[in-house]
Amino acid sequence: MSTEPDTQTSDALDSELAALLDVERFPPPPEFREQALLKDPAVYEQAARDPLAWWASEAEQLHWFRRWDTVLEDSNPPFYEWFVGGTLNASYNCLDRHVEAGIGGRIALHWRGEDGEERDITYAQLLAEVKRLASALKAQGIAKGDVVGIYLPMIPEVVVSMLACSRIGAPHNVVFGGFSAEAVRERMEFSQAKLLITVDGAARKGKTAPVKDRVDEVMGGLPALEKIVVVRSKGTPCQMQPGRDVYYEEILAEADAECPAEPLDAEHPLYILYTSGSTAKPKGILHTTGGYLTGVCATHRYVFDLKPERDVYWCAADVGWVTGHSYIVYGPLCNAATSVMWEGAPDYPHKGIWWELIERYGVSILYCAPTAIRACIKWGPQWPAKHDLSSLRLLGTVGEPINPKAWLWYHRVIGGERCPIVDTWWQTETGAIMITPLPGITETKPGSATRPLPGVFAEVLEESSGEPITEGQGLLVLTRPWPSMLRTLYKEPERFVETYFERFGPQTYLVGDAARRDRDAYLWVIGRIDDVVNVSGHRLSTAEVESAIVAHPDVAEAAVIGQHDEDTGQAIVAFVTLQGDLEGDEGTIEGIRATVAERIGKFARPKRIIWSEDLPKTRSGKIMRRLLRDIAEGRALGDVTTLRDPAVMEQLQHKISERQAEED
Ligand code: ATP
Ligand code: MG
Repeated sequence: MSTEPDTQTSDALDSELAALLDVERFPPPPEFREQALLKDPAVYEQAARDPLAWWASEAEQLHWFRRWDTVLEDSNPPFYEWFVGGTLNASYNCLDRHVEAGIGGRIALHWRGEDGEERDITYAQLLAEVKRLASALKAQGIAKGDVVGIYLPMIPEVVVSMLACSRIGAPHNVVFGGFSAEAVRERMEFSQAKLLITVDGAARKGKTAPVKDRVDEVMGGLPALEKIVVVRSKGTPCQMQPGRDVYYEEILAEADAECPAEPLDAEHPLYILYTSGSTAKPKGILHTTGGYLTGVCATHRYVFDLKPERDVYWCAADVGWVTGHSYIVYGPLCNAATSVMWEGAPDYPHKGIWWELIERYGVSILYCAPTAIRACIKWGPQWPAKHDLSSLRLLGTVGEPINPKAWLWYHRVIGGERCPIVDTWWQTETGAIMITPLPGITETKPGSATRPLPGVFAEVLEESSGEPITEGQGLLVLTRPWPSMLRTLYKEPERFVETYFERFGPQTYLVGDAARRDRDAYLWVIGRIDDVVNVSGHRLSTAEVESAIVAHPDVAEAAVIGQHDEDTGQAIVAFVTLQGDLEGDEGTIEGIRATVAERIGKFARPKRIIWSEDLPKTRSGKIMRRLLRDIAEGRALGDVTTLRDPAVMEQLQHKISERQAEED
């Protein structure tokens, strides 16, 4: 009997299934692959056979004052240590060694101010300023181990400050410049910061917001905080408290121009950074020096296929987030890259400013968040169309799942269909990118972060049994330690163990995200564990429903939550933002419901659709579904300190009560 018909049926099924899952595949373009740093898929197996050797060879790319004795110390899990016995310095690796290698003239940062001001800073110049600030910090009484707070906008001084701290072994605690002064106080208090570096005022879309004066209003009564260093950036008048406050420029002018980099233990704390707070109260993540630098340096090179002599790299995040720490500061500088640094917002002075900057500096690698891409979709393709984007050769995303529609838009409109997209999954906790394509090797599928990087081990576990799932949905875990992993939650070791290692034991890191593993072993991170809705016994990820809603041509953005429902257990409520100035009506609602029915099934259709001009987002741009759940269930709002625009919540609350009045 011929097997022919069977094969045909299965082929037909395959293509039908692929169409159903909306899975288009994108192999690396041949021109890209040919020139890629990594093009042999054997690297995956090589790293899997001996992960410690893999990471040790990456650590060897760094400069060590003293080589390590032990790659991984794992006798007290989950408190792992890497490169034990080794000593190094992060600022030395990011600056001195490049200057010593004769490339001090290379531009490290093309800084661009909101008002058009430009500063090109070379590696040699950056080193000189870092040395001076490091000496100045010492003169102000900062010693190895003292925590230094940094509350600065996107100005070069923020990079100088971080590196000056790492030069003398003072762990930094950077607070995103968009946070309120109260949030800064809380973080300074908690980390017992001895000194805070801040600014007179910051640019905010054409206006100047006072910063130092706000800080003063809340910063009293912190016994540990001895000094405040103020960068004069915008000339905003501010009060200086004698004995406590000093100007950055003045202490720099008086400082010793020399300040040798301190040899630090590989496990010396490099920084504390709070997570963005999408799910709960922010956690103080602690990263140390050797493993962290190994992780960010290797991933920055391989994931972005970096050619430091040629590329112009731009990570359009804020330094105040882990993305900025790892991929604006430590990764790119460690790799001697030339970067763009933009002070302002993506829509000021106009909605095409990003594309203008890409053309201006010849940016070849762009790394940004899906939230920014969705905003650009909303603003329309006419903005990027005005600029020559042909210098781009690689695109990246980070921070949230990217829905296929946004992925394809990024691919076509920004990447001109020639740039691979690296959808990078990672966390503040992981320090470096964990799951993402290698752009010269991995075939991509829009919406999937694909597979773990070489040396990283991820699995999807069945929720109740904890058994690995080969195909299907479950809890994402990392099953082996990795060099750039968090070492603990600052001053909360019990919370560290409980949050990440209680569920499956000290060897298995619980990520907190749900994921699907498809039959090619590709991973689809579909959102936080709590962002799962149960409708009539069907478990749905909010991201999946959101992707279906956004597939409707009029929709720009959507957030989905589950709300208690008498009949179905939970019903889907969707908060929807339409493109441009479109207004939603009954027809649009029916259209959206039909799109969801077609893509997922009738049971997944939203029961209520609420039009919203904007969605509540963390300051890093992530949708905070837990707040949407709170208002939909009529509860008091949980922690809102990390919310970007509190007015959005008021508008939504108002809409919901209107809606409820109508329904009753
Ligand atoms: P908190 O832990 O305080 O709730 P947070 O998780 O938002 O805050 P981050 O560490 O900045 O703080 O974000 C990491 C999370 O972002 C991941 O756990 C995941 O949920 C999401 N994420 C990041 N990158 C991706 C990606 N490429 N695809 C899907 N989700 C992503
Ligand atoms: Mg998190």
